[in-house]
Amino acid sequence: MNVLKIAIQKSGRLSEDSLKLIKECGIKLNNGKGKLKATADNFPLEFLFLRDDDIPGYVEDGVADLGIVGENVLVEKENDVELVKKLGFSKCRLSIGVDRNWDYKNIHELEGKSIATSYPKILGNYLKGKKVNAEIHEISGSVEIAPSIGLAEAVCDIVSSGSTLLSNGLKEADVIMRSEAVLIAQNALSADKRNILNQLIFRINAVQEGKQ
Ligand code: ATP
Ligand code: ZN
Repeated sequence: MNVLKIAIQKSGRLSEDSLKLIKECGIKLNNGKGKLKATADNFPLEFLFLRDDDIPGYVEDGVADLGIVGENVLVEKENDVELVKKLGFSKCRLSIGVDRNWDYKNIHELEGKSIATSYPKILGNYLKGKKVNAEIHEISGSVEIAPSIGLAEAVCDIVSSGSTLLSNGLKEADVIMRSEAVLIAQNALSADKRNILNQLIFRINAVQEGKQ
């Protein structure tokens, strides 16, 4: 029998709501705590718990058939996978943050400036589209402290309430992209697997309609 493998963030801002959605779909998970894998009792689904950044690559390679990731990670990674469905949770923005005293008017003020980010591709493409030349410093974490330690003059980072920016003396100056959790799938699923995916999508649609 065919089973679909779905990759879910092991622990972080996507994990809880991803599992909640699965539960709302009526799928029962046998989850030994701390395990990297789990199976479902009543649906042909197997779960792999991974770092979110690795999920698009694993789905492209077929290590997993499906995955749930933030659109921000999907777009940054540029993997060749199918975006099946937006899921409506983990909503956030990828935004430019600058010193709160900076009288920021528009993106052209970043011309010649340095910007710290974990999203060099999304930011680079955005700046290119706006014909702004800036220096992008890729760093993997604690992006918000970059201006205060003199590493960059601005940041481009994930924002939801803006409180992290504020507590670092920054303000949200520009929105580069809006993101939410998305269901992704491998491009070349077999007909059997596609069938199971369609059943899953049917259930997700029912859950989403019930919430409207
Ligand atoms: P990992 O250790 O798995 O790499 P991480 O630190 O990269 O985790 P999280 O902070 O858990 O990731 O965020 C995962 C995703 O959740 C982000 O890529 C983004 O789509 C979304 N997200 C991040 N911050 C917020 C937030 N404050 N509010 C809502 N969604 C968020
Ligand atoms: Zn991550």
